[in-house]
Amino acid sequence: MTNTGNVPFVDLQTPHRELEAELVAAFKEALRTAGFIGGPSVDGFEREFADFCDAKYSVGVSSGTDALRFALTAAGVKQGDIVVTVPLTFFATTEAISQAGARPDFVDIDAATYTMSPEKLREYMETQCVLDSATGRYVNRALGKPVTAVIPVHLYGQTADMDPILEIAARYKLIVIEDACQAHGAEYFSKKENRWCKAGSMGRAAAFSFYPGKNLGALGEAGAVTTNDEVVAQKVRVLRDHGQSKKYHHEVEGYNGRLDAIQAEFLRIKLRHLAKWNQQRRESARVYGDLLRSMGDSITLPTQPSWSKCVYHLYVIRTHDREGLQKRLTGAGIGTGIHYPIPLHLLGAYGSFGWKRGDFPLSEAAADQILSLPMFAGLQVAQQQRVADVVAEFASVQSTK
Ligand SMILES: *Cc1c(COP(=O)(O)O)cnc(C)c1O
Repeated sequence: MTNTGNVPFVDLQTPHRELEAELVAAFKEALRTAGFIGGPSVDGFEREFADFCDAKYSVGVSSGTDALRFALTAAGVKQGDIVVTVPLTFFATTEAISQAGARPDFVDIDAATYTMSPEKLREYMETQCVLDSATGRYVNRALGKPVTAVIPVHLYGQTADMDPILEIAARYKLIVIEDACQAHGAEYFSKKENRWCKAGSMGRAAAFSFYPGKNLGALGEAGAVTTNDEVVAQKVRVLRDHGQSKKYHHEVEGYNGRLDAIQAEFLRIKLRHLAKWNQQRRESARVYGDLLRSMGDSITLPTQPSWSKCVYHLYVIRTHDREGLQKRLTGAGIGTGIHYPIPLHLLGAYGSFGWKRGDFPLSEAAADQILSLPMFAGLQVAQQQRVADVVAEFASVQSTK
C-alpha cells in the first residue's frame, strides 16, 4: 500500500482503458480493410477536427513539428527569412522554423500570461527592423534578412493575446502561424471580431500536435494544420505527400509527413470526448485555485485574463525556490514537470547565434521559477488536496524564512 497517496503528473492509462473496446474495434477494422494510408478515416478526422477548431480546413500530418514546418512553408516563408517567436516554448517551435529554411528570432513574453508580449513584438518591428522599399518588406537591420512571419505560441492551454499581435502583423506584413500544439479547444475573445475565437482559427494557419500527452493525443505520433485559406490547405496536402497532388506528379519536393489512417481513426474516437475532458481540466484548475490561493506570496498561480478560456494543458505555478518545492512534492510521491527549464535562446543548439543571458529576462525568470503540477482529465479533488497540502507545508516554511 506504499503508493496509496501518489499523484501522477499525468494519467494516460485511464482514458484508454475506458475507450478500449472502441479503440480495439477501430484497430480490427483497419486490419480488415488494410487501408493504412489516407482514405475515409483521414478525411473524416480532418473534417471533424476543422469543425472543432472553427476552421475551414484541417490537414492531418505526422507530428506537430511537421505541422509547424508545413504551415510556415505553405504560407510563404522562404529560405533566408526571419520568423519571430518566443523563447519560452518547446524546442520544436524553432526547429520547425529552421527546417523551413528560415532563421528563428525572439521577442520576450508577457510576465503574467507567459505568452508573446505584443508590446515586445511591436518594439522589435519598430526598433530593429526597417522597411526595404524595393521589396516592401521589413528587414532586420542587424541580420540583414526580411522578417516575414511570427509564431505566437498558445502555451499551457492558453492563447496568446491575438488581437494586437494580428494588428501588428498586418501593419508589418507578417504571416501569423499559431503554435496551437498545447491548446486544442482554447478560446480567445477578440474585441475586433466581438466574439470568442478558437485556437487554430485566427492566424493564416495553425499547428496542432497529437503527441500522446497533449489534450488530444494519438496512440503514437500525429499532428494537423488548420487554416481558413484553401490555397494553404492544398499546399500542406502536397507537402505532406512528397510534393505530389496526383500520384507520381511531383510539383515540388515535399516530405513523407502524412497522418496514419489508424491514428486518424483513434483520434476521431477521442475527439468526441475532448470538450468534456477540457471542461474537466478547467474544473481542476478552478479547484487548484481555491486550494492554493490563500498560500501567500511564495506561490504565484496561473493568470487567466478576461479574454481567455484556457484548456489547461498544464497547470503551471511559480515560486522562487522551485527546486525546493519540486523536491518536497517528489518526496511525497507527487509528479511534477518543468515546461521549460532552459529558454530556447540559451540552448546549446543556438550557441553560435550570439544570444546570452539577459537578452529575454522575463522568459529567463519564468524558466527559473515555473513548476507544472499534476493536471489531466480525471484528476480527483482528493489528489489535488494532497498536492495542496504539500504546497502549503512548503509555503509555511517560506513565510517563516
Ligand atoms: C508538442 C509541441 C510541439 C511539437 O509537437 P510534436 O507532435 O511533438 O512534434 C510544438 N510546439 C509546442 C508548443 C508543443 O508543445
